[in-house]
Amino acid sequence: MNVQDRAPAHIRAIAPYQPGKPISDLARELGLDEAGIVKLASNENPLGVNESALLAMTRALSEVTRYPDGNGFELKAAICAKFSAGLGSAAGAVKPEQVVLGNGSNDVLELAARAFLTPASSAVYSQHAFAVYPLVTQATGARGIEVPARDFGHDLQAMRAAIAPDTRLVFVANPNNPTGTFIDGERLERFIDSVPQDVLVLLDEAYTDYLPRALRYDSIAWLAKYPNLLVSRTLAKAYGLAGLRVGFGLAAAPVIDLLNRVRQPFNVNSVAQAGAVAVLDDPAFLERSYEVNLAGMRQMTDGLSALGLGFIPSCANFVAFRVGPAAEVFERLLRQGVIVRPVGSYGMPEHLRVSIGTRDENARFLAALRSAIDGLPGVSRVRVGA
Ligand code: PMP
Repeated sequence: MNVQDRAPAHIRAIAPYQPGKPISDLARELGLDEAGIVKLASNENPLGVNESALLAMTRALSEVTRYPDGNGFELKAAICAKFSAGLGSAAGAVKPEQVVLGNGSNDVLELAARAFLTPASSAVYSQHAFAVYPLVTQATGARGIEVPARDFGHDLQAMRAAIAPDTRLVFVANPNNPTGTFIDGERLERFIDSVPQDVLVLLDEAYTDYLPRALRYDSIAWLAKYPNLLVSRTLAKAYGLAGLRVGFGLAAAPVIDLLNRVRQPFNVNSVAQAGAVAVLDDPAFLERSYEVNLAGMRQMTDGLSALGLGFIPSCANFVAFRVGPAAEVFERLLRQGVIVRPVGSYGMPEHLRVSIGTRDENARFLAALRSAIDGLPGVSRVRVGA
């Protein structure tokens, strides 16, 4: 027997995560100039790196002979200051013992799975939800319960009904990736309230900073009410630091204590901690990310409609559109130097997902898409007036 056959069956059964295609790969494969490639495949921020974060990271580089602060004192203080500021006095303040730092919020998802799941338990998540939920669940040997989506979004009633006696974790993405679907705050809180207190609800808010103002809700205030709520956030999207890998989770102190027990002591490096502290102190950058995305989303959805393509209304920094022969369109876009994201592995074989880029990038994508679908048989168009 080979050594690889000795790995547990639940590990061998894992289908690896498929990341967006790197620009350098496409440049190599097609002999293209990297500078001419438009990548709208990984929901990255098109604004460029935040200036004060860049300065702080440059300074931190001279200290890399030392291990980072494994407890992330300064970064936790910055997170607490930011999230306590918006809370009414009834909810109190967010304390450092309510914060766990992650190497990206992916790390937080994994910490939650490792701390709460075993081969004798289960986790609930929605169909078409972020791919990492089934992955981290499967890595623990727990049973994944995938609940059919409704109009591509989470069906909270069905998710509540799917919670089994052995369920220890429920994942909710709001907004969800790759669909961009959104659950309003009132319905979401009712759901959290309905979940048994011994089941952890992981509310993944990676894209929350893109929510239109009228839809915003305050999940941080809920932490005081729900000891089984874990909210995860990231600096990879609206804060523009995807390559740095910083995310965090907020919950009641006893939950955070458990996550810290399975966390690697130095999971967030010192340069990342410095950059994160700086960007959290720059609300104007966040505001610009939001505004640029809002305008870009309008440009993108207007452009898709003009091409006669349907899309799932999105509250995030990407939109999934229905094109029909998605694999062929994906390839045709690649040949024009445009990278988007296929979502066949999400059970959406007729859709592609495109991230919102700069005005120019969005225009390049729309022009490339127009030529990719031109004369292509089987393209699904929305019938006007239907
Ligand atoms: N949650 C969702 C819903 C996501 O789409 C992503 C990124 N694709 C993450 C979490 C993880 O992001 P990161 O690890 O970069 O914080």
